[in-house]
Amino acid sequence: MTADSADDPGALYPGVLGTATFDPAALCCDDLLRAAASRIGSDSSRLDAELLLAQVTGWSRTRFRAFPEQHVSLVQAAAFELLVDKRAAGEPVAYVLGQQEFWSLPLQVSAATLIPRPDTECVVEQALTFGLPARARVLDLGTGTGAIALALASERPDWDITASDSVDAAVALAQSNAAALKLAIQVVKSHWFDQLAPACFDLIVSNPPYIASTDRHLSEGDARFEPASALVSGADGLDDIRRIVAAAPSWLNPGGWLLLEHGYDQAQAVQGLLHQQGFDQVHSRQDYGRNDRMTFGLAPHSRGQT
Ligand code: GLN
Repeated sequence: MTADSADDPGALYPGVLGTATFDPAALCCDDLLRAAASRIGSDSSRLDAELLLAQVTGWSRTRFRAFPEQHVSLVQAAAFELLVDKRAAGEPVAYVLGQQEFWSLPLQVSAATLIPRPDTECVVEQALTFGLPARARVLDLGTGTGAIALALASERPDWDITASDSVDAAVALAQSNAAALKLAIQVVKSHWFDQLAPACFDLIVSNPPYIASTDRHLSEGDARFEPASALVSGADGLDDIRRIVAAAPSWLNPGGWLLLEHGYDQAQAVQGLLHQQGFDQVHSRQDYGRNDRMTFGLAPHSRGQT
């Protein structure tokens, strides 16, 4: 349907377009984007508006710039307004779109999981530098959307990759992402190591929750809409990291690595935990924002599972 062919848009979308006389000129892309951006009021308003209009129209963002006077249909405009309402209420763009790109992979996201962050791509980069065996066994704990496991699978199709999560909806989402991307990973439900079948890995990687429960960051931005189970980890943010580090040696092959994402101010504490458990070659690395973002170490020795 185009603006010209719509007889009575108000009847179709009373809540969206209203019943007042409708001005088809208002459906020009640039006008829509301008109005939406001022309503969104985020620090990336125009970009957010373009991403939402791109989803509704199937057009590229370049096209909005090249042909700002181009018109969209009433149906598209109405659908766009619904998305803008959500974004204007603070909902993260990724949740509004149901999608977020990570490591150039389009991932479905949902409110059951953390939205993959660009910083976590640095964790993937680090994992690829360890020189693991050609058919390495890899475990991604708390996989959420499957982001880390799927990025690794896309780079190393011969690795045997298991991804786990304790949340049913996350397990389903990671499986669905793997299927959509035709990447072979096993997704299992487990709270950290608790329900995993005995195995030894060459790499255990995780982006666990690591924010302190009192951190004001939790009431700001996208984090307001993300599940606490993916963000918060006790009074100092380290409860889950402590659990993972304590158990990991039993699940690693000799020469295996543990690689953990953590908060910008947690590198020293996480290094301390790895040393305590006997890990060697313990180091931290920064993310794109130059914050200490991950720490890794080499397995002490295989201790066998209990
Ligand atoms: N880096 C994320 C943030 O600062 C937190 C991710 C996490 O807790 N794993 O919002």
